[in-house]
Amino acid sequence: MNASISSLLSRTKAKNPGEPEFHQAVEEVLLSLAPVLERHPEYERAKILERMIEPERVLLFRVPWTDDQGEVQVNRGFRIEMNSAIGPYKGGLRFHPSVNLGILKFLAFEQVFKNSLTTLPMGGGKGGSDFDPKGKSDAEVMRFCQSFMTELARHIGPNTDVPAGDIGVGGREIGFLFGQYKRLRNEFTGVLTGKGLNWGGSLIRPEATGYGAVYFAAEMLATRKETLAGKTCLVSGSGNVAQYTVEKITQLGGKALTLSDSAGYIHDPAGIDRERLAFVMELKNKKRGRIADYAARFQGSVYTPVQAGAKSNPLWSHKAQCAFPCATQNEINELDAANLVKGGVYAVAEGANMPTTLGGVNVFLDAKILFGPAKAANAGGVAVSGLEMSQNSQRYAWSREEVDAKLHGIMKNIHRAALDAAERFGVPGNYVAGANIAGFLKVADAMLDQGLV
Ligand code: NDP
Repeated sequence: MNASISSLLSRTKAKNPGEPEFHQAVEEVLLSLAPVLERHPEYERAKILERMIEPERVLLFRVPWTDDQGEVQVNRGFRIEMNSAIGPYKGGLRFHPSVNLGILKFLAFEQVFKNSLTTLPMGGGKGGSDFDPKGKSDAEVMRFCQSFMTELARHIGPNTDVPAGDIGVGGREIGFLFGQYKRLRNEFTGVLTGKGLNWGGSLIRPEATGYGAVYFAAEMLATRKETLAGKTCLVSGSGNVAQYTVEKITQLGGKALTLSDSAGYIHDPAGIDRERLAFVMELKNKKRGRIADYAARFQGSVYTPVQAGAKSNPLWSHKAQCAFPCATQNEINELDAANLVKGGVYAVAEGANMPTTLGGVNVFLDAKILFGPAKAANAGGVAVSGLEMSQNSQRYAWSREEVDAKLHGIMKNIHRAALDAAERFGVPGNYVAGANIAGFLKVADAMLDQGLV
């Protein structure tokens, strides 16, 4: 490792203790950027990397609310405004009990590069809370969202910071958050994306992350003159990203075999077709049930519960050709990655953010499989959020076909940009390095142009 990069990494770890996910995300990016820094000493002179690692602003606030029993509950709210060199802060809100400062900083850091790759004018941010929507009534979720927005509203705005959804934040939560923002500020603006279609949302936004990940996989396969038709695919998660990943795989002639949630996974050798996916959508989005119910409903499918303390996840040991991790960070470790390669998988597109550990990424790179990292492969979601912002500014809505065509074009461009950057900097075919480099250059140049701020 280049000496200045290794010193920066040690300083970052010392300065941000207890934030392993943030260290991991920074390390992956820094390792890729060594050839860029060698060719461009101006970035090092201006301490661009040090500045990119340090958030422009971190907000941490109390979120008090009352549950259905009348008891007072207190959660913690966050917003990380990471980088605004190329546009307003943009990135989702995550509601999950595991949320902490380090996880949100990793997500905000990744978001800066991802948003840059989309070619749209969006800076990077991320936020959320350790609130767990699971098992809460709609009224409790609403009261929490209203309290959360009461503080957040002071810091965001359509030209400042535009949050969206992420784990635990879907259409229902965005609705409650938007309602409270509008009430507090007395203005109807595009301050959040992922809104309902009747009140400023964009067609294809719910589908965008999953569809985009599959478009990205199709582009990678095309470099080997292959398509998704007839390919078997392992998918994890069963939320927004996983559902639309399965939908697009099926539309392109592939067969999705698995889905999961935090309690376990199902394997269906018959494939999760349209009818079965409709069952999952009803189960997860309306009934808010568990994926185990799938196996009870469809004969031939098998449910395997999570085994506490297991060294690997058996979902990744099934034979298949493609894999789409769409649940959460670090869900594929080194052993899982080795099992995937052993099981015949040669194309992986990350729908979730940083779902593969650094060890796992190295297994994929060493095996020379097609590996699309999250920053590139799941950028479709934020890309369509950017398109939602454009439509809001114009007070005009594009058709489903228009948005889908723009999304497809953006995913093709991201794939090309990552591939070209990897080639230019001497690591051909390495999409990890390519995405980091291409995302970095645009932000770094903008920061140079804007002086020391
Ligand atoms: P959802 O809340 O809709 O779904 C999350 C899914 O992942 C659920 O099935 C959930 O299971 C599972 N999951 C969450 N945490 C864990 C865990 N610790 N272990 C195992 N499974 C878990 O979220 P999304 O689909 O929106 O997000 C999934 C991933 O995609 C995240 O990494 C997110 O950051 C990323 N992403 C999302 C975008 C979007 O547009 N929504 C955009 C880009 C990236 P359970 O219900 O049991 O918790």
